[in-house]
Amino acid sequence: MRAFSYERASSVEAAAKAVASNPDAKFIAGGTNLLDLMKLEIETPTHLVDVNGLELDQIQATPDGGLRIGALVRNTDLAAHAKVRSDYGLLSRALLAGASGQLRNKATTAGNLLQRTRCPYFYDPNQPCNKRQPGSGCSAIGGFTRQHGIVGVSDACIATHPSDMAIAMRALDAVVETVKSDGGRRSILIADFYRRPGDTPHIETILEHGEFITAVALPSPLGGKHVYRKVRDRASYAFALISVGAVIQPDGRGRFAVGGVAPKPWRIEAAEAELPKGARAATEILLADAHPTEQNRFKIDLVKRTLGAVVEEARG
Ligand code: SF4
Repeated sequence: MRAFSYERASSVEAAAKAVASNPDAKFIAGGTNLLDLMKLEIETPTHLVDVNGLELDQIQATPDGGLRIGALVRNTDLAAHAKVRSDYGLLSRALLAGASGQLRNKATTAGNLLQRTRCPYFYDPNQPCNKRQPGSGCSAIGGFTRQHGIVGVSDACIATHPSDMAIAMRALDAVVETVKSDGGRRSILIADFYRRPGDTPHIETILEHGEFITAVALPSPLGGKHVYRKVRDRASYAFALISVGAVIQPDGRGRFAVGGVAPKPWRIEAAEAELPKGARAATEILLADAHPTEQNRFKIDLVKRTLGAVVEEARG
């Protein structure tokens, strides 16, 4: 691990300013992904700004009937919160499908959104990787691609986003609230939060350097039945081959987002209109632009079948 300096932020604004003033600085909270990346020298910040003392660990009702989740709420606490369990069951289930108990105790809401891909080539400094070292090439293309993306990818990167929580947030239309170093605030629809890789896969979100996530807001509850189903190579502590998070109403209408197929939580609202006709029709629209490899073509059928199972489970 490379040497770095460290400070504890005294306020949200001070944290944003401290990171913005140094191009090699980063925020640190739970550190469940960043510290691993630093040990491998994949991330090499020269300065860390610790935000753990900023008292952003509250979950509060909003005036419009929704919930505001502080950026530092730990994944375990969010999954166990009574209101999340009763009204946003999809979010609770997605969180509990991710990582391990120990990791969920440390991992934060904002950090979960910002975790990096688990593409194995990204974690191997001996392999070219455009996301780790822009312009070096993509080892996955032409390599081992069973875990990789099939839609929304580019010729520069076919990695997937690993978060389970983000799939639920996307289906629930969450809004990411931020503060910039100049004090300006933004509310960003999660649909707009992640970028597609294009030619710059190392830039993963629309956040500016130093822009600090303070909270994630959820709109008022949708009702319906909430299901999160994750398909993976082993029963726990593994990332998704694919996952489906859905809210299904009694009449068969609903909304859903899919993980493990794209560089961002994948939701196509037009596909949801097809849901009453069946999972096949909905998946055809959801994955209409898919460009799978020979090794991950199976994900198309897997999404179809998993979505069908999710709808069946929801309708009892
Ligand atoms: Fe790197 Fe993306 Fe290619 Fe993986 S898929 S090797 S993260 S550029």
